[in-house]
Amino acid sequence: MAMIVCPHCGEQVSEKAKKCVHCGAILIPEEKKHCTECGAELEEGMTECPNCGCPVDDILGQETDEKPQKVEATGVKVGIMQCLA
Ligand SMILES: [Zn+2]
Ligand SMILES: [Zn+2]
Repeated sequence: MAMIVCPHCGEQVSEKAKKCVHCGAILIPEEKKHCTECGAELEEGMTECPNCGCPVDDILGQETDEKPQKVEATGVKVGIMQCLA
């Protein structure tokens, strides 16, 4: 059982802990999948969306190589684009 140090509070927690038991910081974000169609949360192992029936297959497995998705960081770029136009 390995221990890691929480980057937030510096306390030791299990490397398997999803969040720090001391300060509550999220250490391992749960990789919840979301339906590509309707955005419903999908549980591990689901093969289709319980909400709309959209098949869930290659959402996982296409990680790494590509840059991490930028979440809601488009504001700046939009500004640049407008300047060019
Ligand atoms: Zn902590
Ligand atoms: Zn769906």
